[in-house]
Amino acid sequence: MTQSIQVNGRDTLGRETVVEIIDLHKRFDDHDVLRGINLTARRGDVIAIIGGSGSGKSTLLRCINLLEVPSAGEIAIEGEPYRMKHGHSGIMKPADARQVARIRSRVGMVFQNFNLWPHRTVLENVIEAPMIVHGVKRGDAIERATTLLERVGLADKKDSWPGFLSGGQQQRAAIARVLAVEPMAMLFDEPTSALDPELVGEVLAVIRDLAGEQRTMLLVTHEMAFARDVATHVVFLRDGVIEEQGPPQQLFETPQSPHLQQFLGRLS
Ligand code: ADP
Ligand code: MG
Repeated sequence: MTQSIQVNGRDTLGRETVVEIIDLHKRFDDHDVLRGINLTARRGDVIAIIGGSGSGKSTLLRCINLLEVPSAGEIAIEGEPYRMKHGHSGIMKPADARQVARIRSRVGMVFQNFNLWPHRTVLENVIEAPMIVHGVKRGDAIERATTLLERVGLADKKDSWPGFLSGGQQQRAAIARVLAVEPMAMLFDEPTSALDPELVGEVLAVIRDLAGEQRTMLLVTHEMAFARDVATHVVFLRDGVIEEQGPPQQLFETPQSPHLQQFLGRLS
């Protein structure tokens, strides 16, 4: 999983390649969930990933931060290829535990169900990784977390328990927690799908704000109007392959694949 990736590759505008995925496959038992994904995210790209349920969207994100181990193919982050080896019966395994820890600690993921630690306050949730994983001093971690919580509109909730917050507040706290590790890339897996409709807007507003500042983001969403607005690139996943991709305007206005046409028609 190391040979063919260009180290520190740049595009014609000189933008750094942040995430590079080459011919990624993921198989669960005898189910080929990802069947040859090629995708490049450059600094500042906001890639919206759309597709029906079961098409492999979550699995793709989970491979990028190694919550799932790819079955075949290559992934590199900021030019560093994930080091893999073949274990028993040819199944790929991470070859370098320290690299896995580094990748997980710098590729931030925001989940549908927030996944905050319930027995820690909002502030404790945000300072945990910087202190434990990155060795930031408590005082510095608190200072930065306070700034981030202000940014997502939760300054007054820092000492609250997650269970006492609305879903929208919990998700904004989860975003602050990811920001606290200064992520190389941010992955969002349907960040508003679990929210009551009236809470969706406040979370999208935070994501929109982040998208405007050259952050590299991969965003699985069913919010098509939002994807069209903030994404630099849209990928339509179907049955484990990228069936169509392109700039949002092109994909949403002139979809080519009948499946994509049907998918968009079904949602509108
Ligand atoms: P999506 O996010 O697009 O809805 P997923 O990536 O969650 O799709 O899942 C794609 C397919 O992979 C589904 O058929 C799902 O059942 C299967 N799958 C996902 N995770 C696992 C797992 N850990 N074990 C077995 N099958 C899985
Ligand atoms: Mg999913």
